[in-house]
Amino acid sequence: MSSVYPTRTPDVGLKTPPITPQTNQQPFAMKAKLNGKADEVPADIDIPDNYVAYTLKTQKPLPPFDWRQWHKEINWISTALLASTPIIGLVGAYYTRLRWQTALFSVVYYFFTGLGITAGYHRLWAHRAYNASRPLQYILALAGAGACEGSIKWWSRGHRAHHRYTDTDLDPYNAHKGLYWSHVGWMLVKPRRKPGVADVSDLSKSSIVRWQHKHYVGLMLTMGFLVPTIIPWLLWNDARGGYVYAAVLRLVFVHHSTFCVNSLAHWLGEAPFDDKHTPRDHLITALVTIGEGYHNFHHQFPMDYRNAIKWYQYDPTKWFIWTMQKLRLASHLKVFPDNEVKKGQLTMQLKRLRQTQENLAWPQDSNDLPVVDWDSFQEQSTKRPLILISGFIHDVSDFLEEHPGGRHLLVKMIGKDATTAFFGGVYDHSNAAHNVSFSFIPCLAVPCR
Ligand SMILES: [Zn+2]
Ligand SMILES: [Zn+2]
Repeated sequence: MSSVYPTRTPDVGLKTPPITPQTNQQPFAMKAKLNGKADEVPADIDIPDNYVAYTLKTQKPLPPFDWRQWHKEINWISTALLASTPIIGLVGAYYTRLRWQTALFSVVYYFFTGLGITAGYHRLWAHRAYNASRPLQYILALAGAGACEGSIKWWSRGHRAHHRYTDTDLDPYNAHKGLYWSHVGWMLVKPRRKPGVADVSDLSKSSIVRWQHKHYVGLMLTMGFLVPTIIPWLLWNDARGGYVYAAVLRLVFVHHSTFCVNSLAHWLGEAPFDDKHTPRDHLITALVTIGEGYHNFHHQFPMDYRNAIKWYQYDPTKWFIWTMQKLRLASHLKVFPDNEVKKGQLTMQLKRLRQTQENLAWPQDSNDLPVVDWDSFQEQSTKRPLILISGFIHDVSDFLEEHPGGRHLLVKMIGKDATTAFFGGVYDHSNAAHNVSFSFIPCLAVPCR
């Protein structure tokens, strides 16, 4: 069953309300924490209306990266994981034969753990785009742990901040800081600033999310390394190949596939729904991210279970969720009303048309033209070639030789009203002719005779 939800996209990052110094800004969640279970109270319950502007103004970021203190600036855990896996994988692959069973399993395990992130972490938990049964939630929580990208709770908190404060310094992967920063840079060094507040209290109420968060390290090692080594070992006696290809190299691909959603999807492609921010739609991004490449649509309609809305666009994550629904493992797939989606598209199409229009030369507004009487028109026609069409006088001196019907037809109309001849009496002129006549030849208005 599909459900429709009326909503607007969270574009809080755009707001720059006036600073009100008297607002009690700092301990936003503190009051709430005193009243209930800390992590089940919305973290943003007390934030002021001018939260973004106030926070950016008052909370000073860490100073820029200092190379003299580099060892203190590095985020060692993620740097060690992200730097060691490609090295181990490439060296391992050089010395390890790739068996076809292991190759096939690595691809399958890539999609399994990748979907844990895209269908699980991203669309189910970060965006609540559909409901999943408990068995499916466990599968996705395990699969996502195998992608070694942090727990559901941590990941969703960052991602919700990314959507809420897109392209600002409160966005942890702010695309304005460059492709490299939004891809991996933000994980390699200590963040210059805390991500903006984002509520994940709904996730804290989920026993599966809590379970995964609590046992994350064990689950990550099991699903990321142990399982993809043990399965090839037990089934076709290839533990070493399993470790190198299905565990380590597969992890490198899953990592950079997901990271591309923050980098490539904010850099490459079109903005058919809104161009205020950096998210873009592109097939290449979709291909490398298991369907997360229609990111301009996604930032506009983040709770939609789809990223690609056309049936022929590549979005395996959408196909997976749809299949889970058919198997009764998922329900309440959210779809943004088609009418609203089309309105977004039309707004952008009109904007592009307006830009094209503004780049063309158009005639003066008729209200700005001088009014000339018939006698004056007759008199001026003796000095230069003037022709009257539909109440407007045109100087055709630059057009005499270029007139497709020949110079003689224009010459015989000088000082005369050529309206009837122009509109079909002699030839029913095309749109282009109308535009040429009315656009590029200086016009003078005359009153009706
Ligand atoms: Zn994004
Ligand atoms: Zn998202």
